[in-house]
Amino acid sequence: MDFKNIIIATKNRGKVDEFKLLFKDYFDNIYSLLDFDSTPEIVEDQPTFAGNALKKAEIIGNYFDKITLSDDSGLVVDALNGEPGTYSARYAGENATDADNLNKLLSEMKSVSNRKARFVCALALVFPDGKKEVFEGECEGLITEIKRGANGFGYDPVFYISQYEKTMAELDPKTKNMISHRSNAVKKLINFLKVTK
Ligand code: IMP
Repeated sequence: MDFKNIIIATKNRGKVDEFKLLFKDYFDNIYSLLDFDSTPEIVEDQPTFAGNALKKAEIIGNYFDKITLSDDSGLVVDALNGEPGTYSARYAGENATDADNLNKLLSEMKSVSNRKARFVCALALVFPDGKKEVFEGECEGLITEIKRGANGFGYDPVFYISQYEKTMAELDPKTKNMISHRSNAVKKLINFLKVTK
């Protein structure tokens, strides 16, 4: 099996940068959908993070006939019954920006005392022969009342990590990559690559 090249099935610049840093020692060439002019449209309509990740990896993997990794991730807030969940990227509407989504979250959480939340990441790895694997990672935190920090993306400015007494957006990228849901899922994926390679 050729493990030198991998396509990360995302156009999200923030995720691409994080994956490139996490994978730099394991693959020679790390491509993303930002490297190609035309790619299939994918509707993320599955009820779970794992279901959406698998759907994306299978469609892109079949299209390019290369090892493909896809992630679906999002924020799960206890007091909102798990919302925004798989709708994290479009919580405030189909064309919502990160800022729109974050502002909606802060307004939904106004006067809510249980601030517990977690980021979840499901990674799906699909091989040209049809073999597939899913790895999940989580990161626990608390939703703040105001935004703090300028690093990262998405809900990072309102996701507080007690261990560091900082929001995700106040952490430097290396520290975020040590503890994030994505890196916890990536660690499982890398263990799998080590034994499979
Ligand atoms: P996806 O692209 O469908 O996986 O949507 C993920 C959405 O979840 C993003 O648009 C963000 O709103 C949120 N999200 C996922 N991972 C992170 C993270 O590491 N920090 C902040 N927000 C995240």
